[in-house]
Amino acid sequence: MVQLIKKMNQTVLFVIISCILIFIWWMTIDKFDNYIIESKNILFQSESENAVKHIAEVFDGKMKLSKSLKAFVELQGDGLTQEIVDQYGNSSQLVDENVVNFNIAPDGIIEFAYPKEENEMVIGHNLIMDERDIVQKDILHAIETGKSIITGPVDLIKGGKGIIIRDPIFIDNEFWGFATIVLDAKVITDVIDNYNELGQYQYFISSEDNLFNYGAYFNKEESDIILKIPNVVLDLKISGKINDEFNFLNEKNIRYFKYFSFFVLLLLIYISFDLTHTNKLLSKRVDSMIYFDKLTSLPNRRSLEKRMNEIMGSNTFYLAFADLDDFKYINDTQGHTIGDHLLKQISGVLLKYSTSKVKIYRWGGDEFVFIFENHSYDEVKNLVSKILSEFTNPFKIEENNFKISMSAGIVKYPDDSENIDDLIKSADTAMYSIKEKCKNGFVFFNDISTDAYYEKIAISNRMKDKNFVNDLVVHYQPKVQINNNKIMGMEALVRLKNDDGTLISPDKFIKIAEDKGYINLIDRFVINKVFSESKGIIEQYGLKVSINLSAKNINWDFVKYIEEQMAIYNIESRYIEFELTETAAIQNIESVVEILVYLNSLGISIAIDDFGKGYGALNYLLKFPIATIKIDKEFIDDIMGNVTGNKIIESIIELSKNLGIVTVAEGVESYFQLDYLKTIKCDDYQGYLYCKPVPYEKFIEIIKTREC
Ligand code: C2E
Ligand code: CA
Ligand code: CA
Repeated sequence: MVQLIKKMNQTVLFVIISCILIFIWWMTIDKFDNYIIESKNILFQSESENAVKHIAEVFDGKMKLSKSLKAFVELQGDGLTQEIVDQYGNSSQLVDENVVNFNIAPDGIIEFAYPKEENEMVIGHNLIMDERDIVQKDILHAIETGKSIITGPVDLIKGGKGIIIRDPIFIDNEFWGFATIVLDAKVITDVIDNYNELGQYQYFISSEDNLFNYGAYFNKEESDIILKIPNVVLDLKISGKINDEFNFLNEKNIRYFKYFSFFVLLLLIYISFDLTHTNKLLSKRVDSMIYFDKLTSLPNRRSLEKRMNEIMGSNTFYLAFADLDDFKYINDTQGHTIGDHLLKQISGVLLKYSTSKVKIYRWGGDEFVFIFENHSYDEVKNLVSKILSEFTNPFKIEENNFKISMSAGIVKYPDDSENIDDLIKSADTAMYSIKEKCKNGFVFFNDISTDAYYEKIAISNRMKDKNFVNDLVVHYQPKVQINNNKIMGMEALVRLKNDDGTLISPDKFIKIAEDKGYINLIDRFVINKVFSESKGIIEQYGLKVSINLSAKNINWDFVKYIEEQMAIYNIESRYIEFELTETAAIQNIESVVEILVYLNSLGISIAIDDFGKGYGALNYLLKFPIATIKIDKEFIDDIMGNVTGNKIIESIIELSKNLGIVTVAEGVESYFQLDYLKTIKCDDYQGYLYCKPVPYEKFIEIIKTREC
């Protein structure tokens, strides 16, 4: 659920950010619109400045003339004569070549014109009766408003185009007539045409009353800008429109730009979404590399530690440390591929039990850890026994059945410990303790004797000081011939002496020494001790001494040590036998075989210890130069009734005889066993029945008192 909210939150966040981005885009693009319009205006204004100035100048001069003429007519009134008009025309600086003529029309009938000669035809023309529409409008407007009116361009009576500036004259508030200046239209049209042809803009000039219109042919509504021409009383305006070829920022392009930028924005959003998505996938991949086991896809040790750290303090939980029984044997005999298949299959089965409160991790190798969050003792008990019952039926791989089981040790947080390492260690201890008792079982750490656990730790700590070898002692157990009850050899068995004189059994410290790397010290000590103290009786009684070696310690350095010791004590190799427990734990078997062959070539015998108990025993028979087989005590214990067990002993003995190997029965405790061994022709035996392992001094006494 939390995951879902997290995931949802991310998506919601993403949508919100996208919306904000689109909003920002929208605001920006809107501003951009305004900006474009503004900058276009500014551009237009600066570009149009010249045109406006130019036109303003032209009109300015002409308006001055219009004012001056008006004032002149008002002054003269009815006293006007053609002569006075001519005088005014000739003397006025304002009358230039652009002025086609000016005329004065009292009561609307043109009576005076200047220059007269060229304008005779307008004399007598009644403006009020003028047939030209525009002139009618102009006259009406002039009388109505009392203001100067500019009209044009109009066809002139004398031909050509002209612009007319007309002033209504009022004398004593009474309409008197008109004073009119006729300009050659070119004075304006040429200027506008020129700009329209050359510039980036198209201009259109118009007066407010629309009597004067000239310029590029476009609808005024379309104009980008309208500017007032300054100082022109006639309310003239210039409208402009940018030429399409220059108008890159026209509406169409801006629209395209908007679409394009929106598309780019969406693309960016998509890319960033894709990136976050890919990022997520990547981090998922990295997570799966860090937190998941490659083979089984189960969460791994790191993931377990992470989870434990998360729930510690807030939750109680049970932790089960589970280990497959004898998985190593399958791996060694069937190969790692089958082993891997099996692990995968088992993981699949275990995963069935995974819930929101039950998590399964692969700790490593054939070890798994279960976390039961907020479960009761009984719930855990039931669940674990259910999980272990999954192993009742064999697993099938490529038509082959593999019978395998699992054992588990269970701890409770925080009751057993509040520390991850200690919890795991305790669960592991519990798991081992159940393994020793039975396979496919489980036990709560609370229910096991922790004495054994602390004893292990104490031994391990004691060995950290190499001087512990000074506390080692060797006991000897006689090896007896079954048919004549004669001692023909002895086995050297090491013990660790406590300060109070009590002895620690090798069963308790050999494994620790092997695991912690101290076994070399022990095996060297025993060789030295045996050679040094028992050389005398060995030779005197012709006894063969059997020394146990740890398979983990068989290397050429050790061989060198053996040879040195043999040389120092001058012991013949025929008196020496090395016992090796046949075990799946022998790594790099080839080099061990090579060494054993070498030792054998020196004349030293090799015995296989605990034969039949372990695995792949027969394999070794063919590889090692074996002189002796020691039948494991478990078979001897079974002699009483177990017919199958008996069959095994019988076949071991038969096989050994065929191969010329001496058989030794271990742990013989009763005459019944001994008799049976005799009937099946077992060669030798060891056991409490004859004698327990005893210190050297005691052993000498035994040899002397009993026959050998
Ligand atoms: P192992 O080599 O199988 O030794 C035989 C074990 O059976 C000895 O236990 C012996 O005391 C015990 N035993 C002999 N007869 C009887 C009997 O009739 N009844 C019973 N219940 N037990 C009997 P121990 O001395 O405790 O040694 C245990 C194991 O420690 C040995 O098993 C051997 O694997 C290992 N070990 C002993 N000494 C050495 C050593 O010097 N070096 C190495 N690497 N391992 C050693
Ligand atoms: Ca032995
Ligand atoms: Ca043994």
